[in-house]
Amino acid sequence: MKVLVINCGSSSLKFQLIDSQSERCLAKGLCERIGIDGSMITYAPEGGEKEKTVTPMPDHTEAIRLVLEALTNASTGVVKSLDEIGAVGHRVVHGGEKFAQSVVITDEVLQTVEECNDLAPLHNPANLIGINACRKLMPNTPMVGVFDTAFHQTMPEEAYLYGLPFVYYEKYKIRRYGFHGTSHSYVSRRAAEVLGRNYEDLKTIVCHLGNGASISAVKNGRCVDTSMGLTPLEGLIMGTRCGDIDPAILEFLAHKEGKTIDEVMSVLNKKSGVLGLSDNLSSDFRDLEDGYHKGDANASRALKTFCYRVAKYIGAYVAAMNGVDVICFTAGVGENAGIVRTFVCEYLGYLGIALDQEANGRRGQDIVISTPDSQTTVMVIPTNEELAIARETVRLVG
Ligand code: AMP
Repeated sequence: MKVLVINCGSSSLKFQLIDSQSERCLAKGLCERIGIDGSMITYAPEGGEKEKTVTPMPDHTEAIRLVLEALTNASTGVVKSLDEIGAVGHRVVHGGEKFAQSVVITDEVLQTVEECNDLAPLHNPANLIGINACRKLMPNTPMVGVFDTAFHQTMPEEAYLYGLPFVYYEKYKIRRYGFHGTSHSYVSRRAAEVLGRNYEDLKTIVCHLGNGASISAVKNGRCVDTSMGLTPLEGLIMGTRCGDIDPAILEFLAHKEGKTIDEVMSVLNKKSGVLGLSDNLSSDFRDLEDGYHKGDANASRALKTFCYRVAKYIGAYVAAMNGVDVICFTAGVGENAGIVRTFVCEYLGYLGIALDQEANGRRGQDIVISTPDSQTTVMVIPTNEELAIARETVRLVG
């Protein structure tokens, strides 16, 4: 079956067409600036040239129409007609406590997703717009929603509750949900597969380090803790997000800088993280790594503070699981920045970890980067959220 995977943001839309038998990506692309001047679609068929077209996209329906047109285009398309697309898998950011699994999309499901909008006011409405636009253009094609939060729904109460009056959990469902669940699930399973171990027997820590970053503890195939919370702002220091801070800083900053809560939140989401720590040098780890090697103090501070926080969370999750067998690095930074993996593992001597620096220098493959006598296995597993969504889609409607 050919599965179209859609990841819809408020003004962007990423897509991949995946052949579920071979698990090959037949074509992929991105629509940008939807509803804004200068909208553009980028399309790349497997093995072909990437093409960029600037064209008006007043709304998501038009963006999806252009995606379908590109996929069926007589010269560069990869399918002859839309009938060849057997199903669509949609990434949905927040499923609250309502979705612990992926679901086949129905009117009732959409209504329930809408009830979660409060929890992700920027993301969920955009996801819903994408789903509705797709349903309009492909009314007879089955669709599946795959939630970023679902994998973490197995967390026990002591891991997901905040130390707040319990009534706020009861009234508003304020609790920790966690995100990047599709990636944490895919990577932890894949690690077991690569090692030839039973997934249900392992204690795994997955470090998903990208522009957004989160860590999870997966014990016997179930997530028992993760670093993001009610929103993706909690936990690790990220590209531009602050991660864990003393909540009293909000009030302090608002007073000192004369800012509203919304303005302070914008600083915490967009101006903080390694961008803020590096005194605005960059949120991109390629620049930080470059700067570090040139002796730049801003780059060095950001990199070291980021890595320390990752190591601290690993320690917490070793405690949460009473041990660890495998630590996996994934996503843009986790897969590519060997220096980050080295700095993090320097804190982990107590786990008997020794890195194989030759393996740590390789890229783009599932690989063990610890030495054979390392007491804990360290791996790099490139994440593939689109493939995981396609697999879930086929599992439900294939
Ligand atoms: P993601 O959110 O998973 O797409 O990760 C994006 C981030 O990965 C970028 O902002 C960079 O900081 C980082 N990244 C990508 N490529 C490299 C690389 N070759 N070396 C270091 N960091 C990288």
